[in-house]
Amino acid sequence: MAFYLLIPNLLTVAMFASLYLSIGFLAAAVLFAGIAPVVTLRLALLLIMTNVVGFCALLRLEILQRKQFALLHEERNQNRHLLKEIAHRKSLEAQLRMVAERDALTGLNSRSHFMKRAEALLQRSRLEKVPFSLFMIDVDHFKSINDTWGHTHGDWVLTKIAEVCAQSLRPTDVIGRFGGEEFVVALPDTSPKDAQTIAERLKKKVAELPLQEGMNELCLSVTIGIALANSEEDGLESLITRADQTLYVGKRNGRNRVEMSRDSC
Ligand code: GH3
Ligand code: MG
Ligand code: MG
Repeated sequence: MAFYLLIPNLLTVAMFASLYLSIGFLAAAVLFAGIAPVVTLRLALLLIMTNVVGFCALLRLEILQRKQFALLHEERNQNRHLLKEIAHRKSLEAQLRMVAERDALTGLNSRSHFMKRAEALLQRSRLEKVPFSLFMIDVDHFKSINDTWGHTHGDWVLTKIAEVCAQSLRPTDVIGRFGGEEFVVALPDTSPKDAQTIAERLKKKVAELPLQEGMNELCLSVTIGIALANSEEDGLESLITRADQTLYVGKRNGRNRVEMSRDSC
């Protein structure tokens, strides 16, 4: 019994050791103590019973341990699977966010994400009582670029203009693709005078953009309409409308120019 209790993890070893001792004990009792056959039989039965009980108890324990190990193994596998699933879901979530927030062609903020970010900037500018300017930028005669060089070249021009915007504006400014060949920029803490200077610089950089081979005769230009948030009631939507109207004044006045909304001067 002591073997079965003290060596619980090695069933066969415990069994053979116990049987060896039992047989040895029985043989010694017969040879050296000269016990009667009936007593020998009783002793043998007792030892067999002890061995059977010990063996069965240990076998059961071993089966339970195996089951426990299998469950533990299963649990670890499930956990690993769960971690993989979580990582996969997180990456899908990031991809979805990217699709919703970024414009696929230019990598700029999508219109809806721009609105969200610009709205927050406008609120903050109001709280801090600092000026807030907004640009509406439109590529001049873009349709004829598509018609002359094809849509692939047109797309390339749009990505280059987006790059110029991202490079020449401050990291605090928020740039978005408003639609087709129109871009919108929110410039917090920017006075009308500074806005005019920044827009002129941007217009110049677009005009100086190195173009693809075969596009040499293209005179790339943009028209920029500027509006300044000037009162508590002036929401983002009406600011955009004013910048858009100003942009069309610029278009009527000959394109390739920066136009400032009258109530911003
Ligand atoms: P304007 O100087 O008055 O702004 O003239 P425009 O030709 O630039 O403006 P219009 O609105 O007539 O044409 C805009 C064109 O932009 C029409 C449309 O096919 C093209 N467009 C819109 N989105 C994309 C785009 O993602 N890629 C390309 N290549 N073209 C686009
Ligand atoms: Mg347009
Ligand atoms: Mg245009």
